[in-house]
Amino acid sequence: MAVYLHEEDLPGDVFAPGAAIAVDTETMGLITPRDRLCLVQLSDGGGDEHLVRFSPGSDYAAPVLKSVLADPARLKLYHFGRFDIAAIRHYLNVVAAPVYCTKTASRLVRTYTDRHGLKELVRELLGQDISKQQQSSDWGGPVLSDAQRDYAASDVRFLHRLKDELDRRLAREGRTALAQACFDFLPARAELDLAGWPEVDIFAHV
Ligand code: MN
Repeated sequence: MAVYLHEEDLPGDVFAPGAAIAVDTETMGLITPRDRLCLVQLSDGGGDEHLVRFSPGSDYAAPVLKSVLADPARLKLYHFGRFDIAAIRHYLNVVAAPVYCTKTASRLVRTYTDRHGLKELVRELLGQDISKQQQSSDWGGPVLSDAQRDYAASDVRFLHRLKDELDRRLAREGRTALAQACFDFLPARAELDLAGWPEVDIFAHV
Protein backbone atom coordinates (compact mmCIF):
# COMPACT_ATOMS: atom_id res chain seq x y z
CA MET A 1 0.00 0.00 0.00
CA ALA A 2 1.96 3.00 -1.21
CA VAL A 3 1.56 6.30 -3.05
CA TYR A 4 3.93 6.84 -5.97
CA LEU A 5 4.63 10.27 -7.42
CA HIS A 6 5.79 10.47 -11.03
CA GLU A 7 6.80 13.52 -13.07
CA GLU A 8 5.18 14.13 -16.49
CA ASP A 9 4.25 10.49 -17.25
CA LEU A 10 3.61 7.05 -15.81
CA PRO A 11 6.39 4.49 -15.95
CA GLY A 12 5.56 1.55 -18.23
CA ASP A 13 3.91 -1.63 -16.97
CA VAL A 14 2.42 -0.21 -13.79
CA PHE A 15 -1.00 -1.70 -14.48
CA ALA A 16 -1.99 -5.17 -15.65
CA PRO A 17 -3.53 -5.14 -19.15
CA GLY A 18 -7.28 -4.60 -19.15
CA ALA A 19 -7.65 -3.89 -15.43
CA ALA A 20 -10.18 -1.21 -14.55
CA ILE A 21 -8.43 1.96 -13.41
CA ALA A 22 -9.73 4.60 -11.03
CA VAL A 23 -8.89 8.08 -12.34
CA ASP A 24 -9.04 11.54 -10.82
CA THR A 25 -7.49 14.90 -11.68
CA GLU A 26 -6.42 17.99 -9.79
CA THR A 27 -6.33 21.31 -11.63
CA MET A 28 -5.78 24.98 -10.86
CA GLY A 29 -9.54 25.51 -10.77
CA LEU A 30 -12.90 24.69 -12.27
CA ILE A 31 -12.59 26.49 -15.64
CA THR A 32 -10.86 23.84 -17.71
CA PRO A 33 -9.32 25.88 -20.56
CA ARG A 34 -8.03 28.46 -18.07
CA ASP A 35 -7.02 26.28 -15.12
CA ARG A 36 -4.26 23.90 -16.06
CA LEU A 37 -4.13 20.21 -15.30
CA CYS A 38 -1.63 19.67 -12.46
CA LEU A 39 -2.09 16.06 -11.40
CA VAL A 40 -3.64 12.82 -12.65
CA GLN A 41 -4.18 10.13 -10.03
CA LEU A 42 -4.64 6.46 -10.91
CA SER A 43 -5.25 3.20 -9.07
CA ASP A 44 -6.08 -0.34 -10.13
CA GLY A 45 -7.78 -0.98 -6.81
CA GLY A 46 -4.93 -3.16 -5.56
CA GLY A 47 -3.87 -0.75 -2.83
CA ASP A 48 -1.27 1.44 -4.55
CA GLU A 49 -1.95 4.85 -6.02
CA HIS A 50 0.06 6.53 -8.75
CA LEU A 51 0.17 10.33 -9.08
CA VAL A 52 1.42 11.91 -12.31
CA ARG A 53 2.38 15.53 -11.89
CA PHE A 54 2.66 18.10 -14.67
CA SER A 55 4.82 21.20 -14.31
CA PRO A 56 3.86 24.68 -15.52
CA GLY A 57 4.54 24.83 -19.25
CA SER A 58 4.33 21.05 -19.63
CA ASP A 59 3.80 19.77 -23.18
CA TYR A 60 1.59 16.98 -21.75
CA ALA A 61 3.29 14.43 -23.99
CA ALA A 62 2.86 11.58 -21.45
CA PRO A 63 2.67 8.69 -23.95
CA VAL A 64 2.29 5.94 -21.34
CA LEU A 65 -0.42 7.75 -19.39
CA LYS A 66 -2.29 8.55 -22.61
CA SER A 67 -2.19 4.93 -23.74
CA VAL A 68 -3.65 3.80 -20.41
CA LEU A 69 -6.38 6.45 -20.48
CA ALA A 70 -7.33 5.95 -24.12
CA ASP A 71 -7.28 2.13 -24.00
CA PRO A 72 -10.77 1.02 -25.13
CA ALA A 73 -10.31 -2.30 -23.30
CA ARG A 74 -9.76 -0.58 -19.94
CA LEU A 75 -12.68 0.77 -17.91
CA LYS A 76 -12.00 4.11 -16.22
CA LEU A 77 -13.72 4.75 -12.88
CA TYR A 78 -14.38 8.34 -11.84
CA HIS A 79 -16.26 10.28 -9.25
CA PHE A 80 -17.85 13.10 -11.30
CA GLY A 81 -16.12 11.95 -14.47
CA ARG A 82 -17.61 14.81 -16.46
CA PHE A 83 -14.96 17.17 -15.08
CA ASP A 84 -11.99 14.78 -15.30
CA ILE A 85 -12.86 13.61 -18.81
CA ALA A 86 -13.00 17.24 -19.98
CA ALA A 87 -9.66 18.10 -18.34
CA ILE A 88 -8.00 15.01 -19.81
CA ARG A 89 -9.51 15.68 -23.24
CA HIS A 90 -8.37 19.31 -23.19
CA TYR A 91 -4.82 18.86 -21.88
CA LEU A 92 -3.88 15.32 -22.92
CA ASN A 93 -6.08 15.23 -26.03
CA VAL A 94 -7.44 11.73 -25.42
CA VAL A 95 -10.96 10.55 -24.64
CA ALA A 96 -10.56 8.60 -21.40
CA ALA A 97 -13.34 6.06 -21.96
CA PRO A 98 -15.06 3.63 -21.45
CA VAL A 99 -16.43 5.28 -18.35
CA TYR A 100 -17.97 4.42 -14.98
CA CYS A 101 -18.97 7.33 -12.73
CA THR A 102 -19.70 6.71 -9.07
CA LYS A 103 -21.48 10.07 -8.71
CA THR A 104 -23.84 9.31 -11.61
CA ALA A 105 -24.48 5.82 -10.21
CA SER A 106 -25.12 7.32 -6.78
CA ARG A 107 -27.71 9.72 -8.21
CA LEU A 108 -29.49 6.79 -9.84
CA VAL A 109 -29.75 4.66 -6.70
CA ARG A 110 -29.42 6.93 -3.65
CA THR A 111 -32.61 8.79 -4.48
CA TYR A 112 -33.27 9.29 -0.77
CA THR A 113 -30.55 11.94 -0.47
CA ASP A 114 -29.03 14.81 -2.41
CA ARG A 115 -25.60 14.20 -0.88
CA HIS A 116 -23.53 12.55 -3.60
CA GLY A 117 -20.05 13.79 -2.71
CA LEU A 118 -17.22 11.26 -2.54
CA LYS A 119 -16.78 11.71 1.20
CA GLU A 120 -20.45 11.01 1.86
CA LEU A 121 -20.48 8.00 -0.48
CA VAL A 122 -17.39 6.44 1.11
CA ARG A 123 -18.84 7.02 4.55
CA GLU A 124 -22.25 5.51 3.82
CA LEU A 125 -21.31 2.64 1.51
CA LEU A 126 -17.91 1.64 2.91
CA GLY A 127 -18.02 2.99 6.45
CA GLN A 128 -14.75 4.86 6.09
CA ASP A 129 -13.83 8.46 6.62
CA ILE A 130 -11.82 10.51 4.14
CA SER A 131 -10.69 14.09 4.54
CA LYS A 132 -11.57 16.68 1.91
CA GLN A 133 -9.43 19.36 3.52
CA GLN A 134 -6.91 19.66 0.67
CA GLN A 135 -9.56 19.83 -2.05
CA SER A 136 -9.13 23.56 -2.64
CA SER A 137 -5.37 23.72 -2.23
CA ASP A 138 -2.72 24.97 -4.68
CA TRP A 139 -1.90 21.99 -6.91
CA GLY A 140 0.50 24.00 -9.09
CA GLY A 141 3.39 24.46 -6.67
CA PRO A 142 6.84 22.87 -7.03
CA VAL A 143 6.35 20.50 -4.08
CA LEU A 144 3.23 18.58 -3.08
CA SER A 145 2.77 18.39 0.67
CA ASP A 146 2.21 15.03 2.36
CA ALA A 147 -1.37 16.10 3.03
CA GLN A 148 -1.89 16.86 -0.66
CA ARG A 149 -0.45 13.50 -1.71
CA ASP A 150 -2.64 11.64 0.74
CA TYR A 151 -5.71 13.55 -0.32
CA ALA A 152 -5.00 13.09 -4.04
CA ALA A 153 -4.45 9.35 -3.54
CA SER A 154 -7.59 8.93 -1.42
CA ASP A 155 -9.67 10.29 -4.29
CA VAL A 156 -8.94 7.13 -6.33
CA ARG A 157 -8.50 4.67 -3.45
CA PHE A 158 -12.14 3.73 -2.95
CA LEU A 159 -13.67 3.86 -6.43
CA HIS A 160 -13.41 0.12 -7.19
CA ARG A 161 -15.12 -0.77 -3.94
CA LEU A 162 -17.75 1.90 -4.46
CA LYS A 163 -18.43 0.51 -7.93
CA ASP A 164 -19.02 -2.98 -6.51
CA GLU A 165 -21.59 -1.70 -4.05
CA LEU A 166 -23.22 0.72 -6.49
CA ASP A 167 -23.50 -2.06 -9.09
CA ARG A 168 -25.39 -4.18 -6.56
CA ARG A 169 -27.80 -1.34 -5.91
CA LEU A 170 -28.22 -0.50 -9.59
CA ALA A 171 -29.13 -4.15 -10.25
CA ARG A 172 -31.50 -4.20 -7.27
CA GLU A 173 -33.33 -1.10 -8.52
CA GLY A 174 -33.37 -2.22 -12.17
CA ARG A 175 -31.25 0.72 -13.37
CA THR A 176 -28.09 -0.98 -14.63
CA ALA A 177 -28.82 -0.33 -18.31
CA LEU A 178 -29.87 3.27 -17.65
CA ALA A 179 -26.65 3.86 -15.73
CA GLN A 180 -24.62 2.41 -18.60
CA ALA A 181 -26.34 4.73 -21.07
CA CYS A 182 -25.47 7.70 -18.82
CA PHE A 183 -21.83 6.59 -18.54
CA ASP A 184 -21.63 6.20 -22.32
CA PHE A 185 -22.88 9.78 -22.77
CA LEU A 186 -20.34 11.33 -20.39
CA PRO A 187 -17.56 11.90 -22.96
CA ALA A 188 -20.07 13.81 -25.14
CA ARG A 189 -21.22 15.77 -22.07
CA ALA A 190 -17.59 16.72 -21.37
CA GLU A 191 -17.15 17.71 -25.02
CA LEU A 192 -20.20 19.99 -24.74
CA ASP A 193 -18.65 21.58 -21.65
CA LEU A 194 -15.46 22.32 -23.56
CA ALA A 195 -17.31 23.49 -26.68
CA GLY A 196 -19.33 26.18 -24.90
CA TRP A 197 -22.41 24.54 -23.42
CA PRO A 198 -21.14 24.08 -19.86
CA GLU A 199 -24.27 24.88 -17.86
CA VAL A 200 -26.92 24.18 -20.47
CA ASP A 201 -29.12 21.07 -20.42
CA ILE A 202 -29.19 20.43 -24.16
CA PHE A 203 -32.30 18.27 -23.67
CA ALA A 204 -34.24 21.04 -21.94
CA HIS A 205 -37.43 22.42 -23.54
CA VAL A 206 -36.47 26.04 -22.92
MN1 MN B 1 -9.66 14.93 -6.54
